[in-house]
Amino acid sequence: MSSSDRENGNECFKLKQYDQAKEWYSKAIEKDQLDYLALTNRSIVNYQLESYESATDDANKAIAINGQWYKAYVRKAKALKQLQAYRDAIDCLELALSLLENNNVVVDKTLIAMINTELTGVYTTLIDTRYKTITQGMDVYVEYIDKIKGKGVMARCSKKSNQELFNESPLVSSISYEYIGDDMYRHCSHCLATDLDVRLFGEKDKAVHSMIYGQSPPPRHMKKCDGEACKEWFCSDKCCLDAWDKYHSIVCSPSTREHIDQFHSQCKKYKQTNPLVILKMFTMIVSNVIQHNMMIQDALLPFTSFISNGQWQTAHDEEMLTLINLMLSEKCSTRQDLTTNLFTIERYRQFNAIIQCNASRIHPPSDVHLLVNDMVAKTPLSVDYIELPPGTKIPIDELGNYLERMDRLSINGSGLFPITNSCNHNCDPNAVVTYSSNNNTVTMRTLRQIMPGDSIEISYIDEDQSRPQRQRQLLEKYLFRCGCRKCTIGRD
Ligand SMILES: [Zn+2]
Ligand SMILES: [Zn+2]
Ligand SMILES: [Zn+2]
Repeated sequence: MSSSDRENGNECFKLKQYDQAKEWYSKAIEKDQLDYLALTNRSIVNYQLESYESATDDANKAIAINGQWYKAYVRKAKALKQLQAYRDAIDCLELALSLLENNNVVVDKTLIAMINTELTGVYTTLIDTRYKTITQGMDVYVEYIDKIKGKGVMARCSKKSNQELFNESPLVSSISYEYIGDDMYRHCSHCLATDLDVRLFGEKDKAVHSMIYGQSPPPRHMKKCDGEACKEWFCSDKCCLDAWDKYHSIVCSPSTREHIDQFHSQCKKYKQTNPLVILKMFTMIVSNVIQHNMMIQDALLPFTSFISNGQWQTAHDEEMLTLINLMLSEKCSTRQDLTTNLFTIERYRQFNAIIQCNASRIHPPSDVHLLVNDMVAKTPLSVDYIELPPGTKIPIDELGNYLERMDRLSINGSGLFPITNSCNHNCDPNAVVTYSSNNNTVTMRTLRQIMPGDSIEISYIDEDQSRPQRQRQLLEKYLFRCGCRKCTIGRD
């Protein structure tokens, strides 16, 4: 009887005789290849023997036989955690929980609690692994809070009001679809810095130009990528090299040009910016796997450690994925695993969900805005105008209107910021996201005094709306019910 072999295995396991236990379970499996209980148990023995790959294999075999068996997912998760596949381990534990919760039988509460503890452990390890190094030396750190809030950003030291907390460049970013292919909005593909002079033409603009720069030429000159048929521009050699190393070498070839153009025109036609970010995400992963010999799961980790709600399905997503495939397939022709594991519609929709739940709108100030802000900061309080060269005075109280008129000089985009996007929401925030240079770098500033250990919280929406409006927007857009002080006390 194979079941008695399994029971012998269980006895040995209790006595911590793992080698013998493994032999008994193997015997049971040999006699009955569908014995998923023996497979699940051999998985934990392999785990104890530190053979984590075998532990994963056994759990996978048990799942193939009985996909409803929650324990196999828990075992698999334990092994995956040791193999540092944290995101997959989390998915396994979530699946085990949903199997238990959807079961009509009365479920052991301690079992659920045990799986939740395991889940917290994997999340904590994932967040620590990902964020310890990137927040090193910064005034903030990122930590896992709980299942509802996910992770949060905490202050390491105290800060006064209106101070800089940190600067952060995005992991991935793109300008909005409306500026694509428009030479008026020539910008650096990598850092989104804009070339102002191309947008300053016509008589009125010439006046603005000389007001800002006098007779000297504007400070930035974009350089076109050297690649044959390439249409990308870069603001500096550093941006060009960075982009080349991270993703651009994968798509900079005449054979991909046609598909890139087609992709861009579809983004414009469908008024979608997310696909532009998704294309960069796929390209960065391919670059890391092919050029830096990274494992797919390690290359995915920077993106999948953003917490999202599963999949985000949109119109035309299959079409966009097909175009991405066409652009990248040439470079991936020797890697069948990339085609089967990476370029799937589920992955595309997962990326879309990550962007939908986390991405920030990027709106860098133009050189004009920066110059005016700088002059205002330098102007003594007793003076109620600023003087733009040569000798044009603008009253301080007309500056708002003036800068608004200059808004057409700015572009905007979308990007994923590992630290900034880890900040939780509060309708009465203690910090605010600002852009203080003409590129995609975020500057997080305090709105009031912050003490060490305080959670840095920003407002995801316009916090001056009424409570019902805020609650509805947060629920619709960010899928949570706000429980901040302002919402619960109800004094709007
Ligand atoms: Zn740049
Ligand atoms: Zn190029
Ligand atoms: Zn609130």
